[in-house]
Amino acid sequence: KRYQNTRFLTSATSLRGMPPDIGREAAFAGRSNAGKSSALNRICHQKSLARTSKTPGRTQQINFFTVTDDRYLVDLPGYGYARVAKSQQQQWGALLRQYLLGRRSLAGLILLMDIRHPLTPLDGQLLDLCQEGGVPVHVLLTKADKLKRGPAMATLRTVERQLDREGLDASVQLFSSLNGEGLEAAQARLDDWLAF
Ligand code: GDP
Repeated sequence: KRYQNTRFLTSATSLRGMPPDIGREAAFAGRSNAGKSSALNRICHQKSLARTSKTPGRTQQINFFTVTDDRYLVDLPGYGYARVAKSQQQQWGALLRQYLLGRRSLAGLILLMDIRHPLTPLDGQLLDLCQEGGVPVHVLLTKADKLKRGPAMATLRTVERQLDREGLDASVQLFSSLNGEGLEAAQARLDDWLAF
């Protein structure tokens, strides 16, 4: 159980506030409510490593968690809250851009999408940014337990085809924090990126 000793390290609101850029890390991103905190907690076998149901728009900080030594999991703020001020969105966008394009330790990004609402415009913007920065992406279609097998598989294929058509360096899988579907596959991708 490689991720079960993962611990909160620090929060950053600027590049300067981040741990030294010398290790390997995987970042987690997604729309607010996509199931990011639940997935992080499930992957790390912990109840409240990442806090669920945070106050909208008030968590514009990047949280770093230590897996071992200089290997990190990085929780990026959820996006898509309409009520966050424009100026704050722009500030956040700028930091996200700096992080995705400039962080050398960043080995890959886990992008979480609610399987019932995949590939929103903001997801598309993030995918484009990752492509620009040469950051590989692994998509978790979360809450897969909410759909029957047939529709879940159909959505998986649709999203795969869409990413492929856009020439993106991205893989996709089903995931459920509720029943653990896809947990091993997600951990295997992280193992790969963190060079375990
Ligand atoms: P975040 O805002 O992306 O961090 O999302 P959360 O992890 O806080 O989850 C948002 C809501 O979706 C919560 O009510 C969770 O209980 C629910 N949720 C998260 N993952 C799953 C899942 O795999 N299955 C189901 N059925 N609900 C989930």
